[in-house]
Amino acid sequence: MSFDDYLQRSAQVTPGGIHSQRRQTTPPLCLVRAAGSHVWDATGKEYVDFHNAYGCMILGHGNARVAESVRAALMRLDLVGLGVTPAEVELSERLVANVPCFEQVLLCNSGSEATLHAVRLARGVTGRRRVIKFQGSYHGTHDYLLSNRLASGLSRGGVEPDPQAGVLPEALDATLVCRYNDLDSLASVVAEHGDDVAAIFVEPYGHNVGGAAPRPGFLEGLRRTADAIGAMLVFDEVITGIRHGLGGYQAVAGVTPDVATLAKALGNGLPIAAVGGKREVMQHFNTNPVGDVLYSGTFNGGGGPVAAALTTLEILSEPGAYEHLAAIGDRMRAGLVDVFASRGVPVSVSGYGSVFHVLFDAGGPVVSQEDISRNDVALYSAFRREMLANGVLDTPETQAMRSYVSLAHTDADVELALAAADASIAAARAEARR
Ligand code: PMP
Repeated sequence: MSFDDYLQRSAQVTPGGIHSQRRQTTPPLCLVRAAGSHVWDATGKEYVDFHNAYGCMILGHGNARVAESVRAALMRLDLVGLGVTPAEVELSERLVANVPCFEQVLLCNSGSEATLHAVRLARGVTGRRRVIKFQGSYHGTHDYLLSNRLASGLSRGGVEPDPQAGVLPEALDATLVCRYNDLDSLASVVAEHGDDVAAIFVEPYGHNVGGAAPRPGFLEGLRRTADAIGAMLVFDEVITGIRHGLGGYQAVAGVTPDVATLAKALGNGLPIAAVGGKREVMQHFNTNPVGDVLYSGTFNGGGGPVAAALTTLEILSEPGAYEHLAAIGDRMRAGLVDVFASRGVPVSVSGYGSVFHVLFDAGGPVVSQEDISRNDVALYSAFRREMLANGVLDTPETQAMRSYVSLAHTDADVELALAAADASIAAARAEARR
């Protein structure tokens, strides 16, 4: 069966031929194998993977220890769906020990589920209707926080030119939108609506906001504001949670939210997520017999994903793991700066630890989402397409997207990627000028 056959068959039985938005690439990809930091497509072409399944594969692909622990778990106790399992207890204890705001935790299956439960909890606990989020942030596929994930411009409850069909207008109306890193924009929203705000939701490092680092004082300001208005502060650590340390970015920043969500890298590719926080608020979930906030999920705490998470945390706890991730991330950032400088291409390279962002613009780092509009879109897309052709897997179609390294990435991968970047940028400039 050839590459083209699979693409054609897929387009027949699946809308667009792909199973989640943003998997579309030019040219289209059909991937057949992945190992460590490398991926192969159906034509046999090999890529070094900086896409990393949107950040899930923190250990790299096909990790033998994860695979063995999952196999053993599935043979011992896969999914029963009643009571609790020793593995769920062990994982929950470990997460509570690691993450500063976790006094209690509940498991689920995806980042969207975790943030959905966090919104419902905030509304249930406070009895308030509105939630505050920041322009450009993505918190999952549900309506609750979908407003203003792409377009620039500040709009309170505004609707962006992103697909909105089927989204409940009331959910968009109940979402108040502020500028990332801008406490003044928060203050004005709070002045008008503060007594109806259930929660402030934020990515503590703006990886969906083009790689915006929180400015000194920003997260502290959110903490103060949430306390002042009686709202919950929720850190969406779906990307940052395991990526930036076992305690999440909250441990790095030294600011503790009321509730936080984890997903992506937690299971190194298996679907597992968590929502956790202060005991007094977590007690409101109706897993507690007197709780009044619904919490349910047939697959929650399944044997395979829980085993994957336990093994992932064990490997990441070993000496040198985060140092290796940061060292490879630093080499990529520094190397890209050098490559673009030597070619005279204005660029901002940002990121933290194992995540990096490239913006074709000399205007300095991204602070909030409208800065992404400075990106030279034609050059960015052409560069990423050339990178794909030169054997570097990333998302060519999405603007200001982040890239990830894993524990399996080596110096040789960095060299390969930087050589590809050097070859790609010249071709991309010629292409973008056409
Ligand atoms: N929160 C953040 C910060 C995310 O980046 C994402 C996914 N990109 C989500 C939530 C949603 O997670 P999932 O795709 O696992 O539902």
